[in-house]
This record gives sequence, structure tokens and C-alpha cells, in this order.
Amino acid sequence: MPITDQEPFAFRFRWVSDEGQETGFLGKRGSFDGQTIVLDDTSIPVAAVAELAIRKNIVTILVVTDEAEPSSILVSTSSAKRLKLAVDVARSSIWAEAHKDQLQKQRRSHVYRDQACPCCGATIILSDMPRTPQLYCQFCQSLVTLNQAEAPAGEAALKLCDECGMFSSPRQFTIAYFYFLVVVYGWSDRKVWCCPACMRGHAWKMLFGNVLFVLLVPLAVAQLLRSYGGSMAGPFAGLDTANLKARKGDLRGALRIYQKITDRVPYCAGVKYNVGLALLQQDRTEQAAETFRLSLDDCSNYAPAAETLMYCYEQLGQSEQLDELKLIWGVEDEQEEESEGSETPS
Ligand SMILES: [Zn+2]
Ligand SMILES: [Zn+2]
Repeated sequence: MPITDQEPFAFRFRWVSDEGQETGFLGKRGSFDGQTIVLDDTSIPVAAVAELAIRKNIVTILVVTDEAEPSSILVSTSSAKRLKLAVDVARSSIWAEAHKDQLQKQRRSHVYRDQACPCCGATIILSDMPRTPQLYCQFCQSLVTLNQAEAPAGEAALKLCDECGMFSSPRQFTIAYFYFLVVVYGWSDRKVWCCPACMRGHAWKMLFGNVLFVLLVPLAVAQLLRSYGGSMAGPFAGLDTANLKARKGDLRGALRIYQKITDRVPYCAGVKYNVGLALLQQDRTEQAAETFRLSLDDCSNYAPAAETLMYCYEQLGQSEQLDELKLIWGVEDEQEEESEGSETPS
């Protein structure tokens, strides 16, 4: 049993509905001791946490066990960041230990390799993966260049956008509309987590939606400025514009900018991933596959590129390459395990 020598800590939280609204008036007590997350009278073993995502103070926990259907639990807490860090460090080390045991049973202990994420400290399993200049963390979604001297400025803030799925700099934007009906008036707002390129469309809509109602126009203008002015400077300058061009089908325009970025940044699996997506959108699957392979050359454990590359191989009917990639990513092992499990007489 792995030991997670974390300080147990307590926090206050409130349950959140699937629509993202806090429920109940009273805060509840929660705690985490490195093994179990306790939320009021609900206990969640940390190894059963398949995913834990935070957006500001909202925590979404996906719980997967053998006994029950996967379920997601939503809470809001001011300790969201601390909880995520602690849970990710704990569950990643438990998984790494389990993986080590599995390799030992297969007499393949020698291939075991891991690395701590420089951003969140989670244990990243790298067995069977070639050593590459970049490391991807599936826990905090960071994609970083391991040699600090070669790491470009602003790299750690780049992730996949919730809305468009492209490698960009997603952050929280507020979308607000003032609505006016004959008898009812008021305003509604919602928060989205997306990249500035995605926000531009929302901000323009918000501006036109609000143009008659002076009240919210300053907010719309502020979000517009953030979505334009907030675009990246430095080595990744132009990334939002290139992503927008790619999504609008202007492949040549997008590639021109992506090329400039890849000239400036020595290793950038994420930008190459975007190039692959742009090619895939134009049904240039073979070239897309080539680009996803280049992405994996920069970062061998970059899961988004590997998943899409598997899709490309499937589309292209390249089963040999597909099997090879699945082997590295342990996709086949899982299936074998499942069938082994089902064959066991009860
Ligand atoms: Zn991390
Ligand atoms: Zn986006």
C-alpha cells in the first residue's frame, strides 16, 4: 500500500447541482487525509477518483468503482485548488504503485519509468514511452519542456480549450445578457472556460445583445478587449488567430502562423497537435497522422495527440501502426484484463 505522507486537512464546501448552482444554505464539512475524501457523510476512496476538475471554486469529481456506475459529484469550496493538488498527488502515486505491481507480474519491471509533474507534483507514468523533450500531465493538463533553459515563456498556461478543444490559453470569461420583456426585466450571466478565440464570438454576441441596454455594454467591451488584447505575446503570439483561421477552414493562413510559432519554439507538441486538427478538419488524414506523430516526437505521453493519431490510423485502415500505438498506451492490456476478468469463474 502506498504511503501518502500528506497533512490531513479540513475544508468547508457546498453541494452544487448539475447546472452549476450551489444548493442548500449551510456549508458542509469536508476533509482529505491522503486516502479518503470525506464530503459530509459521503466517503470517496482516492483511488476511485477517475477525474477531478476545477473551474474556479467548483470541483467536479468523477468516481469510478467496480461496484457502481460512474458518478460525478459537484461541490464548491474555496479550497478547490488545494484539494485538487492533494488528491492528484495521492491518486497518481497509488496508480503508479498499482502499475508497478502489474509490470512485476508480467516480469517487465525494467520498463517502469515515471516523472513528477513540475507544475503539480503528480506522478506521471512513462513506462514504454520514449524519452522526449516535453512532458504532459493528465492531472493538471500542463505540457512543459523539461529542460528549463529551452522552455519558452508562457508555456505552462497553455492547455486545451473546453469549447474548441484546441491548444490555447483558456481562462474564465463572463457572458452576460441584459434581457427585457414587457413585464419582466433582469439580467443573466454565466461563466465559460474557453480560449480568447472562442470568447471573441461570445463577446460580439454579447455586445449586440446588449447594445440597447447601456448597463452591460462596458462588461461586453471589457470581455472583447480581454479576448483580443489578452491574446498571447511572446513566442506563442498569433496562436489564437491561427486557431480561429483553422476552425474557419483557412488552412493556409493558419499554417503560416503555426509555422512562425514552431520556428520560435523548439518543442511544442500542443501547437503541432493544432496543426494536426486543422489538417484533419480538411480530411487530410494522412498528413494529420504525420503531424500527430511529430507532436508525439516532442512529447511522447501527450495523450490528446495519441488519441487522435489512433483515430487517424483507424480511418486510414493502418492496423499495424494502430496496434503498435495501442500497445504503448496500454489500450490492449486493458481489454485483455477485462476478458481475463470475465473468464474467471465465480
Ligand atoms: Zn501536473
Ligand atoms: Zn476555444
